[in-house]
Amino acid sequence: MSANKLPDNLHRDTLAVRTAAAPSQYGENSEALFLTSGYVQPNAETSARRFAGDEEGFTYGRYGNPTVSSFEQRLAALEGAAAAISTASGMSAILMMCLGLLKSGDHVICSHSMFGSTIKLIGSDLAKFGVESSFVPQTDAMAWNAAVKPNTRLLFAETPTNPLTEVCDIQALADIAHNAGALLAVDNCFATPALQRPMAFGADIVMHSGTKYLDGQGRVMAGALCASQELVTQTFLPVLKSAGMTLAPFNAWVVLKGLETLDIRMQAQSARALLLAHWLQDHPAVARVHYPGLGSHPQHALAMAQQSNCGGAVLSFEVKAADAEQARARAFQVLDALTTLSLCTNLGDTKTLLAHPASTSHGRLTPAQRQLAGVSQGLIRVAVGLEHINDILADLDRGLNSF
Ligand SMILES: *Cc1c(COP(=O)(O)O)cnc(C)c1O
Repeated sequence: MSANKLPDNLHRDTLAVRTAAAPSQYGENSEALFLTSGYVQPNAETSARRFAGDEEGFTYGRYGNPTVSSFEQRLAALEGAAAAISTASGMSAILMMCLGLLKSGDHVICSHSMFGSTIKLIGSDLAKFGVESSFVPQTDAMAWNAAVKPNTRLLFAETPTNPLTEVCDIQALADIAHNAGALLAVDNCFATPALQRPMAFGADIVMHSGTKYLDGQGRVMAGALCASQELVTQTFLPVLKSAGMTLAPFNAWVVLKGLETLDIRMQAQSARALLLAHWLQDHPAVARVHYPGLGSHPQHALAMAQQSNCGGAVLSFEVKAADAEQARARAFQVLDALTTLSLCTNLGDTKTLLAHPASTSHGRLTPAQRQLAGVSQGLIRVAVGLEHINDILADLDRGLNSF
């Protein structure tokens, strides 16, 4: 789908509100929502050329839509990618990536601390089809390198990770992947292109859950892959056409509009997260705070260099307790004492959301996998929203002072 005409060298803030498919003949200023599953063809010859991919033009809703295309163009512009292709959810973007790139006998390397469903999808579901995988410590580039095998096709990293905010060195992993003739994909869900652009550090593919900060207001599910034009058209688009993990136009429209405020939301939410992290670090009921913006974070310097000098809007902390059973009870006590913030396993919302990873996002993992991911029973994740910082602190203080 052709883009609207914009001058070269515009700044990212401008691209975030201006990049889109060309407007219709009505000249709408806000990008239009096209709710249609089919497209009338001008004649049979044109129709044949469009279906064969020899001419640009929409043919069927599973293959493409102008609103969806606007979202893809805007996201690609923000990530500095040549192209993007969107999906119904973040997980279906990962599925599309794997179905497109891998075959039986190929090998993938991920870290132990990947998103729980990613570990399930790659480690279990794809294993049924003969895809091999190795899971290594997130922050140890030597371990990623040592896991490389002759059949390694893909390194897939997530940084910062959920929920411990562990940071890996994108440039180092890109070098390892490329030396092995493999590709590096980065899940950029937590930092978003507002803070981190993995392609600038050598990543080949950037994966997104649009459900999170791209929408930013907790409304719809969406996903996307950003990559070269060749990967998008020749490797991923055929999977979309046959497997149909298509992003709905309405959801694309919501996320497209969400991108317009991504940068100011990320800055405002990250500023609150930093204040909260410092406050938690000094709280007598808190054992440990995980936040890349704190000097105490093990990869603080790397995070600041890679994430535009910003820790992001997600942090996690562990309550003080004598054992795992007491830790779980105390974490539940903090969550049950909330009166303003939400107990909700999502992130990337303007509302502050808290979750207990051990019993939710990481609940399907085996205890051994959970331990490797560092998810303890006393761990609480906070995805900081836009409420006033004093209201956020007061809502947490009540539970933390109750034991
Ligand atoms: C939520 C999330 C996903 C999956 O996205 P969905 O849109 O829920 O399918 C993948 N990676 C990370 C880091 C996430 O937070």
